[in-house]
Amino acid sequence: MLKVAKFGGSSVAGPRQFEKVKNIVESDPARRLVVVSAAGKRDKDDHKITDLLYLCHAHLMYGVSCDDIVNTIEDRFVEIKEALNLSYDVKNDFEALKARLTKDISVDELVSRGEYFTARLMAEYLGFQFVDAADCFFFGLDGQIDREKTDAAIKEALDKYEKVLIPGFYGKLPTGRIKTMSRGGSDISGAIASAAVDADVYENWTDVSGILMADPRIVNEPKSIAKLTYAELRELSFMGASVLHEESILPVKERGIALNIRNTNEPEHPGTMIVESIDDNSQGEKPITGIAGRKNFSIITVCKRNININETLCQALAIFDRYKVNVEHINLGLDSFAVVASTTAMGDSVYDIASDIKKTCRPDRVYMQEGLALVAAVGRKMTFRPGTSGRLFKALGENGVNIRIIAQGADELSIIVGVENEQFETAIKVLYEGFTE
Ligand code: ASP
Repeated sequence: MLKVAKFGGSSVAGPRQFEKVKNIVESDPARRLVVVSAAGKRDKDDHKITDLLYLCHAHLMYGVSCDDIVNTIEDRFVEIKEALNLSYDVKNDFEALKARLTKDISVDELVSRGEYFTARLMAEYLGFQFVDAADCFFFGLDGQIDREKTDAAIKEALDKYEKVLIPGFYGKLPTGRIKTMSRGGSDISGAIASAAVDADVYENWTDVSGILMADPRIVNEPKSIAKLTYAELRELSFMGASVLHEESILPVKERGIALNIRNTNEPEHPGTMIVESIDDNSQGEKPITGIAGRKNFSIITVCKRNININETLCQALAIFDRYKVNVEHINLGLDSFAVVASTTAMGDSVYDIASDIKKTCRPDRVYMQEGLALVAAVGRKMTFRPGTSGRLFKALGENGVNIRIIAQGADELSIIVGVENEQFETAIKVLYEGFTE
């Protein structure tokens, strides 16, 4: 059994969190490859090291001194070193970094130091071999990770050393320069490392006990989802559930590696296990795995008598494409169709989109409604339950939620309803209370 354990920023925020990580790692010898983010917030008023490093770079660019910020960052690392009695010479490495702090230092190199210093300290504390991400995560000139080269280097490191620790979030370009991934990218590093060594499980340790069935800001203490499929996860994330970095799913999914989301502050909780398929079409349980949603969509309705739907719809979609606006849903009528897209994503392009539709599609009428929220009830078990959607709409209706749009994913994994922004929270609560396990 081999497990890759990735610890996010809040899991490595200070000495106390380091201790929790050590307990977790040492409680299972299968955890032989660890990936860490940069130290995050210790409490809600604190700052993430990565944010402070971005701030430093902005100061350098405008020729404003960033000494105070650098000292704050250094103090955070020195505090961890001293509290845990480590020998890594943080001060020395910080002096070297400070000497290079001019506006010529690249932003990627500077912010990558958050993960670097955190990983140096954690590697020593755990007694793991530190392997720099610059020596095992390689980007191609297209800016994408060169998976073949990266896989080989990570595998080689784990073959050579029994226990390895790698900083997440960055790697090296063919030019030798450091490149970071997008924000939250240590999730991707962990996923790529898991795929490289063909791990049995990719554990993603964070500060929640798995994926919650609904947004805790809307539903009071929602339960976490014990098990779900990658397909369900994709639907939930797409509809707004903030879980993992989107790009971290594919590397593990395509190798059939299970992804386990765990809580560093509650290590005995099994968290959420995400797998390719689950054989559980039992009738006893409720049909919905989780609920997610987003506000602020617009519906653009195009009406045209005796419409040639294929042609006119294609023309309209090409217009959305031209303005790089993703279409979320399409509703077809006999002599009309309605396209749903994010109001924010359209921005001011909405006027051009509407005027191009008028010019190209020559409709009798085009009109737009704003303020729509989309709520998705996601659940693999809905396929086996006749009448789920009927009961769901009834419950929403009984609670005064007016449904303006209904869509069911082609694979019956989700039912999506469009409601007024103001009824978003009520819709989520009704679905959570009536239909989750
Ligand atoms: N430290 C980086 C960030 O804050 C990467 C990560 O935490 O995954 O975005």
